[in-house]
Amino acid sequence: MAESDKQALLDALLAKRRSYADTLPEKWQEIEQVWQTLKSEGWHGERFKTLHRLVHTIAGSAGTFGLPDLGKSARRAEIRLNALAGISKEAISLPIAEIDDDLNHLHLSMETARLSEPDLPLPNVTIDKQDDDAESVESNRLIYIVENNTPQGEEIAQQLQYYGYTPKRFHALGALRSALRDEEPAAVIMDITRTDERSTKAMRILQKSDETQRPILFISSDHDMESRLMAVRGGGIAYLQKPVDISKIIDILDDHLDSDHQEQARILIVEDADSLANLYSMVLSKAGMETRAVTDPMRVLDELDTFHPDLILMDLYMPGCTGFEVAAVIRQVEKLVSVPIVYLSGETDIHKQMAAMDLGGDDFLTKPIEPTHLVSSVRARLKRALMLRALMLRDGLTGLLNHSTTKDRLIQEVDRSRREKRTMAFAMLDIDHFKLVNDTYGHPTGDRVIKSLARLLKQRLRQTDIVGRFGGEEFAVILPNTSAEDARRLMDELRIAFAKVQHQHEQTLFSKTFSCGIALYPPCTGATNLNDSADGALYRSKEGGRNRVTMAEHSSE
Ligand code: GH3
Ligand code: MG
Ligand code: MG
Ligand code: MG
Repeated sequence: MAESDKQALLDALLAKRRSYADTLPEKWQEIEQVWQTLKSEGWHGERFKTLHRLVHTIAGSAGTFGLPDLGKSARRAEIRLNALAGISKEAISLPIAEIDDDLNHLHLSMETARLSEPDLPLPNVTIDKQDDDAESVESNRLIYIVENNTPQGEEIAQQLQYYGYTPKRFHALGALRSALRDEEPAAVIMDITRTDERSTKAMRILQKSDETQRPILFISSDHDMESRLMAVRGGGIAYLQKPVDISKIIDILDDHLDSDHQEQARILIVEDADSLANLYSMVLSKAGMETRAVTDPMRVLDELDTFHPDLILMDLYMPGCTGFEVAAVIRQVEKLVSVPIVYLSGETDIHKQMAAMDLGGDDFLTKPIEPTHLVSSVRARLKRALMLRALMLRDGLTGLLNHSTTKDRLIQEVDRSRREKRTMAFAMLDIDHFKLVNDTYGHPTGDRVIKSLARLLKQRLRQTDIVGRFGGEEFAVILPNTSAEDARRLMDELRIAFAKVQHQHEQTLFSKTFSCGIALYPPCTGATNLNDSADGALYRSKEGGRNRVTMAEHSSE
């Protein structure tokens, strides 16, 4: 994380703590009022619960704002209240003196926290983005190719272009040196011969002055240990022997740079304490996640419908209902069964934690939570969840959304377009005469052609576009917020790009084309209608001679 970012986060945390401290007198008043009423009017279940929740919330939040002493006194009071919560109301005679004592202590800590606030140590603030500079990496598709001006170099450069990379070829080492000064590539492809002095020189130029290494993909005719060793030491991410299969190079680059294409993870925060919800939200967004906070648990289902979170952070004690109950409700919705729920709570009682797990929670984070810890915990759980989800929702060969997920997303996107009064397009693609590829070159080569189209679609489309494999050699693309003209132009560009991609089988190069049909919402009335219309248009592309894009003739059926 850059120093300036760190300072900004530090400032923001300080500001948050200041406003948190400012709310303490008000919080005390609430506690005081409930407690006085309990004392004068006697036992009252709901009132007691409110008292417990108010104290519990401070116990869970103070530490997170860097006020550990306040957190401790609140915790002390909470533990006593916990013990009382289990006793039946008839039997209860409140240990007034003890609670008075705890609450007075709490009040004192609140005052101290509010007044001495500027000197207190801040919580830990080293939050690194997953990727040091996610944004700049994202846009960087620049690949330097260092070679001896060979036809293969030319070909690699051309193919890279079709896959959305920006290749730059270097024959002269001087040019390479100055280019490296000007602009850092995402990766380097280098033709290497150990015995060639030029290779050694090039390696020296490519070495960075700091600890880090440039990702280099080596291509070589050598296959001895020394050459491979030299490559590893030079920062090699791969070592390919000539003649190289270009689709392998693309695969390796895609894998290596894949993090660029990952969608931003969405985290829903359910937390009644405004200040905490804001803090979590801020900390997680700084770490590169998209967040939405809900402070009213009754609104959770609505938010789930529009936000589609990858993970839910759930507070336990909220007015109206508990986090346990909200989790149980969420688990009743079939499509939400796989969204992980992580409880954020001051609940340290292991039995209650277990009960929460039974009701469908996946994990527990105990308050107070330091920002760094929050980010790393969420990230770890997200990684696992996203991996599991990918297995369920994605097609194994291409990594694209599978058929049923694509259809679900189509329904969602139509809903969204309807709500936001926008136009969207739906395109269906089918590779032409694909059976021939299998018949001529075999199934594995057919698979590679399917993968190459998948890759092209993923790379050329916007983050907001949705690409699915509909089955076999058929693909579907959802283009939210897109006009008919734009959809047609885009699909036509993809069609031309795909036709230029050279596929390889042993020494034979060949190319394929696809046909496409596009339907629009509106005039289509819904997902099924879009699907049928696009399918009809695709059929007309095939009939008309293939390798073309056809717009649906919209009737209002
Ligand atoms: P058209 O231009 O009319 O679309 O002709 P086509 O040959 O592409 O169409 P057809 O639907 O007759 O053939 C599709 C072929 O795709 C049949 C099937 O064996 C093959 N196929 C389906 N799934 C896969 C796969 O995952 N891998 C490979 N290699 N082939 C597949
Ligand atoms: Mg709460
Ligand atoms: Mg087909
Ligand atoms: Mg086909």
